[in-house]
Amino acid sequence: MSRRAVTYHTTQETFVCIKCAITVAPPENGTHNRNHCPYCLSSRHVDLRPGDRRSGCRAEMEAIGVHVQADGEWSIIHRCTGCGILKLNRIGPDDSERALLALAARPLTRLPFPLEALTAGGVNQ
Ligand SMILES: [Zn+2]
Ligand SMILES: [Zn+2]
Repeated sequence: MSRRAVTYHTTQETFVCIKCAITVAPPENGTHNRNHCPYCLSSRHVDLRPGDRRSGCRAEMEAIGVHVQADGEWSIIHRCTGCGILKLNRIGPDDSERALLALAARPLTRLPFPLEALTAGGVNQ
């Protein structure tokens, strides 16, 4: 008989953010796996599957956008700066609301068309 169960090391551990170099502790309630920095939302490409830490890439994963599910839950879209893979990660309970808002609003600050086309035109022109 085995004396102890296999322990899976997920992301419940302290890590240093690859981008802002802040030491990030596990979340207080312990129910969410933390896979990104709550301050700048950056991550690191370490997993092939969530929590397995088996990727050899290790490059920074940049937060490039927000995905909203049908139930209203937010996820962050991360793109690896090394290999280009895209991943969806649920937001954490203590992620910076300011950083999340800035990320979500980013496309609105860089419109690919002039805003005047929507506001100044109208049906009379
Ligand atoms: Zn950070
Ligand atoms: Zn990568």
